[in-house]
This record gives sequence, C-alpha cells and structure tokens, in this order.
Amino acid sequence: MSDPPQLLLAHYLKALKLPTFLREHDKLARQCASEGVDHTAYLLRLAELELLDRERRMVERRIREARFPAVKSLDSFDFAAIASLNKMLVLELARCEYVERRENVIALGPSGTGKTHVALGLGLAACQKGLAVGFVTAAALVHELLEARDERRLLRLHKQLAGYKLLIVDELGYVPLSSTGAELLFEAFSRRYERGSILVTSNLPFDEWTSVFGSERLTGALLDRLTHHVHILEMNGESYRLKASQRRQGKPEIPTNAN
Ligand code: ADP
Ligand code: MG
Repeated sequence: MSDPPQLLLAHYLKALKLPTFLREHDKLARQCASEGVDHTAYLLRLAELELLDRERRMVERRIREARFPAVKSLDSFDFAAIASLNKMLVLELARCEYVERRENVIALGPSGTGKTHVALGLGLAACQKGLAVGFVTAAALVHELLEARDERRLLRLHKQLAGYKLLIVDELGYVPLSSTGAELLFEAFSRRYERGSILVTSNLPFDEWTSVFGSERLTGALLDRLTHHVHILEMNGESYRLKASQRRQGKPEIPTNAN
C-alpha cells in the first residue's frame, strides 16, 4: 500500500496537471540518487521531461484537431518530380512565419501534382509549431456553411473558423458552387482577410475561378482579398500518381513537351 505522502504527492501533481512528474519522479529519483545528482539537477531533469512531453501532446492535439485526411510531411515530398514548384519558397513557408503575418498561400496546378501533399506538409509544419490548423475541402466547407446557415448557427461556425491560425481549403474548383454557397464561402474568406491565413489549393488558374463562384464581381472581390498578401505555388506538371503507376507497370513514361 502506498504511504500517505506518496498518495498526497500524486494528488497534488494531478491537480497541478503534471502527468510526467507523476509518472517519472520515482524512477528518476532513484536514478539521480545512484548518480549522485543533487536536488536541483533532479528537479531540472523532471521539469525538462514534463516540458518535452507537454510539447509533444500539444502537437498531437493540433494534428488531431486539424482533421487532416492523412498525415504527410514535406520530408516525403520529392521536389525533383515537380520542376515548376519553388522548393525554396515551400521550405521557407514551412517555417510558418507567413502564418504569423496572416498571409495566404495558393497552390495551383492540375490533378495529381502534389498540391494536397504540400498543403498537408505545410499544415503539419504549422501544427509542429503549435499553431491551430484546420483542414477542409472547399466542397465540405461550403456544405458546413450551408448547414450552419440553415440551422442558424453560422456565427458559431465563423467563430470556430476564426480559431484557426491557418485554414487549409483543399480542392477549390472541382465542383461549381451554388450562388448561396459561393456567397457563404466568400463571406468566410472575407472574415479571415488580414486576420488569419488561408491556404487554398485549386486545379483552376485564376481566370477560371469565375466558373466556380458564378459571379465575376464576387470572384474579383474574393481574389482581391485572397491575393493581397499571397505566396503562389505553381505546380504544373504531370500527375505523380500517373507516373508512379506507369513505373509500377513498367511502361515508358509519357513524354512531355516541357524543356
Ligand atoms: P493533387 O492534390 O495535386 O491532386 P496529391 O497531393 O493528392 O495531388 O498527390 C497525389 C499522390 O501522389 C499523393 O499520394 C501524393 O502523396 C503523391 N505525390 C504527388 N507528388 C509527389 C511528390 N512530388 N513526391 C512524393 N509524393 C507525391
Ligand atoms: Mg488534391
């Protein structure tokens, strides 16, 4: 049976929310005693462990709350496979200073060129810096906005979106939006203007965005805000998926006109 001081200590450490202290103090005390380490150094080691654990738990929570469809890092991204993409810019963005400056990122290019992978990698980098990230497809976001409007909780959804330092909106352009959908998405983007970063990926060049939003006026106003402080990632090239499956099947790669 544990003696009262041990029980009381466990109780205090729980109340103080120091789970690593609670888990490690005994083992570390024995280790420090055998090494002849003094009390201050013992406490320092314990505090360091708690801090490291706390950071790890925070990053894990950020990743969970971001609701990424998959966790992918830029480490597994083959920059050599896509010549049009500015690698230096991507690595600079991975430092996340643009998020602190509330600037936006737009990744443009055809399907399969790694836009979602890069968006996930930048999202993960932001989580690792402890920033609140939200990942959603444009279609899902519009669906959520429409639903929230119908249920008269649009303001609550806007507040939730405002909680993200970085909002990643994937696949803008795959589905044309209804006029209400377009207006709601425009409002969501407008509310973030200079208040929080947005990272958008799209298969459509800017001059075709009107086909998504329907109205030229709305598209113009949206692009005006979105591109005021923006980093553009040009991702033109062949589909990585297609190339990979051709490699797997031993087929020659489709020759490109590039260079
Ligand atoms: P997009 O969003 O542009 O359609 P994805 O990011 O979904 O493309 O990429 C398709 C698949 O190919 C994903 O599994 C992705 O991880 C992989 N992929 C694409 N480009 C690269 C790359 N340059 N290096 C490594 N994997 C890549
Ligand atoms: Mg994609």
